[in-house]
Amino acid sequence: MLKEILNDLTPTNTTLVAVSKTRPAPAIVKLYDQGQRIFGENRVQELTWKYEELPKDIEWHLIGHLQTNKVKFIAPFVSMIHSVDSLKLLKEIDKQAVKNDRVIEVLLQFHIAEEDTKFGLSPKEATEILNSDFYKNAKNIKVVGVMGMATFSPDPVQVRKEFKSLKSIFEKLKMDFFEGQDDFKEISMGMSGDYKIAVEEGSTMVRVGSLLFR
Ligand SMILES: *Cc1c(COP(=O)(O)O)cnc(C)c1O
Repeated sequence: MLKEILNDLTPTNTTLVAVSKTRPAPAIVKLYDQGQRIFGENRVQELTWKYEELPKDIEWHLIGHLQTNKVKFIAPFVSMIHSVDSLKLLKEIDKQAVKNDRVIEVLLQFHIAEEDTKFGLSPKEATEILNSDFYKNAKNIKVVGVMGMATFSPDPVQVRKEFKSLKSIFEKLKMDFFEGQDDFKEISMGMSGDYKIAVEEGSTMVRVGSLLFR
């Protein structure tokens, strides 16, 4: 399935994050051997043991909700954190990045779905974070884009609407806070069931799990 998915992503140059949560190491190695290097996990403990056990040139992305007290376990190696949903969390990521003498790339997660079970910021909260004195002085985090999850729905109209809303949030933030900054470029949206719609709506990064490991 990897080849088929990559074929869908090639025309738009969209990045594939292979979501390997719950998958055992050999299943990950199988994709690694086919050239896949970016993997996403949603639990800190699982991410940590997989990092220890698997090849060191894998780029690990944390895509799930992250508790502040767990940032320290992944700060030494994580490539990107997709799920920043509070100023408190962003502060902790910066603090741990300082300790590890590195810069950690992050995405701001937005609440775009109808379900209120999903985590994420509102545009107003994001604006408050980006206007904060903390953010203006933070040197060890780099905000490189936005992330969102659409409603788990069979209705493509609903899903498309939510992806469009994330894209417009991205563009507004780009204009207001990141004008001329090429690093702010990622729109992480799209999963197994909806990644094709996400790509049509401007996704730069899809997070595909179940379809990939089928
Ligand atoms: C599990 C997960 C995915 C992948 O979902 P699939 O439907 O298996 O492709 C993507 N993003 C997040 C945040 C996830 O937790």
